[in-house]
Amino acid sequence: MVVYCYVEVCTSTLYKKKSQENQEPVSFHRFPSDPNLRAQWIKALVEGNHQLNADTLPQNPKICNLHFRMQDVEKTGFMHLRLKPKSVPSIFPNARRER
Ligand SMILES: [Zn+2]
Repeated sequence: MVVYCYVEVCTSTLYKKKSQENQEPVSFHRFPSDPNLRAQWIKALVEGNHQLNADTLPQNPKICNLHFRMQDVEKTGFMHLRLKPKSVPSIFPNARRER
């Protein structure tokens, strides 16, 4: 199954990870179940990524680790990353520019 990152204009997929072996590990993180934290994630997408559809989430959205700061993730294995509690995505390298 191919997993896509929910962040608009992010090109990470799980499929890509397997085909490009020398890349940094990419991991995908589900939206938090805590409603407050979830709201912060959505806010980050709206404000940081100017993502218009952020309040209409698909069934099982995931965000890849590229949108989290180094100090927000910890390595739990060779290719496995885990988010620290209360981490909020904050890095949107390809965010649309506001006009
Ligand atoms: Zn991503």
